[in-house]
Amino acid sequence: MSERAVCPHCNGNLKTAALVNRGAAGCTWEEIQCITCHGSGTVDSDWLARTEEAKAAGKVLRAERLERGESIARAAGRLSMSLAEYSRLERGWLS
Ligand SMILES: [Zn+2]
Repeated sequence: MSERAVCPHCNGNLKTAALVNRGAAGCTWEEIQCITCHGSGTVDSDWLARTEEAKAAGKVLRAERLERGESIARAAGRLSMSLAEYSRLERGWLS
């Protein structure tokens, strides 16, 4: 059984602020159940480690792209990726 770590999104508070669309009443900021830990306050420690590695790799990718003066669209095109895919890569979002 894998170990648990404090959720990095809500810091173990189980809830997080979100902009909620209330239709005709408009959008309001509300506290909702954390979408990362599903309100448990903890995440799988292996998942957390992979997420942190992906975020670190994404930061390096972004820094190297900026050093080349390359736009996100150009970098995505060079790698035959969609803009959304490339953006997720730089932000370290795991699919
Ligand atoms: Zn959470």
